[in-house]
Amino acid sequence: MSVPKIKHIRASVVRGGGGDYHDVEDGHWIDDHIATPMARYPEYRQSRRSFGINVLGTLVVEVEADDGTKGFAITTAGEIGAFIVEKHLARFIEGRPVTDIERAWDQMYFSTQYYGRRGIVVNAISAVDLALWDLLGKWREEPVHALLGGPVRDELVFYATGARPDLAKQLGFIGGKLPLQHGPAEGEEGLKQNLAKLEDMRNRVGDDFWLMYDCWMSLDLNYATRLAHKAHEFGLKWIEECLSPDDYWGYAELRRNIPRGMLVTTGEHEATRWGFRMLLEMGCCDIIQPDVNWCGGITELIKISALADAHGALMVPHGSGPYSYHFCCTRHNSPFNEIIMSAPKADRVLPAFHPLLVNEPVPENGRLKLSALDKPGFGVELNPACTLHRPYTH
Ligand SMILES: [Mg+2]
Repeated sequence: MSVPKIKHIRASVVRGGGGDYHDVEDGHWIDDHIATPMARYPEYRQSRRSFGINVLGTLVVEVEADDGTKGFAITTAGEIGAFIVEKHLARFIEGRPVTDIERAWDQMYFSTQYYGRRGIVVNAISAVDLALWDLLGKWREEPVHALLGGPVRDELVFYATGARPDLAKQLGFIGGKLPLQHGPAEGEEGLKQNLAKLEDMRNRVGDDFWLMYDCWMSLDLNYATRLAHKAHEFGLKWIEECLSPDDYWGYAELRRNIPRGMLVTTGEHEATRWGFRMLLEMGCCDIIQPDVNWCGGITELIKISALADAHGALMVPHGSGPYSYHFCCTRHNSPFNEIIMSAPKADRVLPAFHPLLVNEPVPENGRLKLSALDKPGFGVELNPACTLHRPYTH
């Protein structure tokens, strides 16, 4: 069998939503007084954009084989990521068979290890990796989930992240994850407001609907432990990413000290098999939440997911749209999925990477039939209405 070779890789940036879903207009729930580690400074408390959460923008990586087949993927890495792809990673991709994904990952990771290991470099590697899986699927005319061993279920079920779990329930989701709004710097009054919000939502959604709190790295161990105990009364299902991603010791202690039955989750800002090995072996959490576009791509997620499975942990990716749908449907320890409500009022379901992708599947009534993932590769295309800018060449 003759395998086409990769002729060209290029990296572009685009503004306004897409891979960088914090890159929003004024008035969006995702930027409305959400607790962050920067909220200890009052001037950065009201808006995450004020401290630069949207500074990077979306990176788009496109690959093209010598038979004309094309693949692409996106991440959050902006112009710095584009530099790394064009000036460093391209050499490991061009001229190689479209099937050489494992070797490409290994070479990208270890050639950048002296300045990489996580963050923007691994985001960029993730986008290249996902573009290669997309290309392989499009060449073989198979969806990525088929390349991964095939689905283990007929549909995906979703919980929704956003400011309105009550609306998420009406839209058919199995649960709603609220952004925590007040951090330790806002004292006892802030803690009361956090609990009042949870109580209000519990009253609106009834006893059986899942409610979770996403704390976006904003708390300290004492505050997180107190919040967990007080929130237990309102049936909080899990407490997410409440400490710094570097504080493995804090997560392990939190997990030992929260009410029985409540889950600790984290990992959206963790990367690679080595980072998740720390979380799993130190007993930091019950569910790991790698972002497929940030953790190293599908090639690394295979290893991360297997490690979680061996530890009896669930692997439920952060957001990640179609990139996670194609993976999760093939794994028993990924029984449900997250969608981030990208509509400004969290009142309707938009594609996860709106408006950058065409044909991005969207859950209906909180569910996505596997038939919606039946197209080659990840089954999506770039929206020609979004203007790509290529800042570097090679
Ligand atoms: Mg989160």
